[in-house]
Amino acid sequence: MKVLVLNAGSSSQKTCLYYIPDDDRSEYVITELWSGSIDWSKQDGLADLKVESNGIVLEETANNEDRLTVIKQLFHYLCNGDTAVLETWQEIDFVGHRVVHGGREYQQPTWINEEVKSAIAQLASLAPSHNPVNLQGIELMEQLLPDTPQVAVFDTAFHSQIPPEAAIYPLPYRFYEDGIRRYGFHGISHQYCAEKVAKLLKQPLERLKLITCHLGNGASLAAIKNGHSIDTSMGFTPLEGLMMGTRCGSIDPGIVIHLLREQELTPEQVDKLLNKESGLKGISGISGDMRRITKEMEKGDDRAQLAFDTYVHHLVKGIASMFASLGRVDALVFTAGVGENSAVLRQAVCEKLEFLGIELDSKKNENSPRDEQIATIESSTRIFVIHTDEDSAIAQAVSQLAQGSSKTKPSS
Ligand code: ADP
Repeated sequence: MKVLVLNAGSSSQKTCLYYIPDDDRSEYVITELWSGSIDWSKQDGLADLKVESNGIVLEETANNEDRLTVIKQLFHYLCNGDTAVLETWQEIDFVGHRVVHGGREYQQPTWINEEVKSAIAQLASLAPSHNPVNLQGIELMEQLLPDTPQVAVFDTAFHSQIPPEAAIYPLPYRFYEDGIRRYGFHGISHQYCAEKVAKLLKQPLERLKLITCHLGNGASLAAIKNGHSIDTSMGFTPLEGLMMGTRCGSIDPGIVIHLLREQELTPEQVDKLLNKESGLKGISGISGDMRRITKEMEKGDDRAQLAFDTYVHHLVKGIASMFASLGRVDALVFTAGVGENSAVLRQAVCEKLEFLGIELDSKKNENSPRDEQIATIESSTRIFVIHTDEDSAIAQAVSQLAQGSSKTKPSS
């Protein structure tokens, strides 16, 4: 079967087409036929497109901010030109979407119908940068491929079994009943990495206790036991927890009251401040990109150094608290842009975790590891660097759902 995956971010869109043999249920037997991405973040009013297939890389800049127009421009290259891998759109059997917020109700990959769409729309207030663009992608695909079944794979689902004491906020109980609780995010990535580590360790995931550190532009931790997340650092929204590229992570909520009351900022200004102007960018005054921070740090920039040290400080505290949630930890896993690529960050974090018996093999750490172990033999906990692949995990989830049920599109 051919599965098209749409993974929409606030200022990005990734799309991949996969081929999965119909009769093969073994995990990750999956071939990427075509990938495309759009990045609206680099230049105002412009979108950078990139398509990779048939050994060809095509790059162009679209002079258009309208999201759907640019996505259609990207899709043109699925069936046209040197990067084409399809003769017609109708060859696509299923479409899978990463949907960031599934609330309490959606805990499994789900066929998309009118009810699911309206739930995604209703949850937009909890994930305003993501759920609306996820829905736009779903509606676009309905226009382009009206008869092709679509599946939503939710980023919150992997965390749905977090026990109440980790999910509830210490507010009056009625807020918990109203849905103000820890949901957690990056679930598709945390789950993918956990399954990959179990494979590499040749042990059933159900017997492992893992801490996964997804460190990208957004960053979160998950404590994983019996194949489920039992605690995670992001909460009601993706703003809680670790310090991130431009997001502050956890801060004293009294600061928000102070900003609103004493500095008379509007809710929109506070939102922008905490989501877009804080984290590495806020402290350094330079950038939210860890590559820039480490570069400036090496040149002796004090604020870049402070931003890096603060990032490490919060990360170490977060990992230690996940240790407390699990008791014993078989493996610590680094993934996503920063986790996979920054040896200096991994070194700084693991040095501070030595009191827990964690010991990094510096040589392995510096040797661009990918899907590899980087702990010494003596280390009490294995350390892995895993290349996360949310899109193939979504395609896999779609294939499993499709093979387990009728291929006809479920009714609304
Ligand atoms: P997203 O969370 O948007 O999916 P990624 O997982 O791709 O993002 O992570 C993007 C971030 O990864 C960049 O902002 C950058 O900080 C970081 N990154 C990428 N490559 C490197 C590198 N070689 N060294 C340090 N950080 C890196």
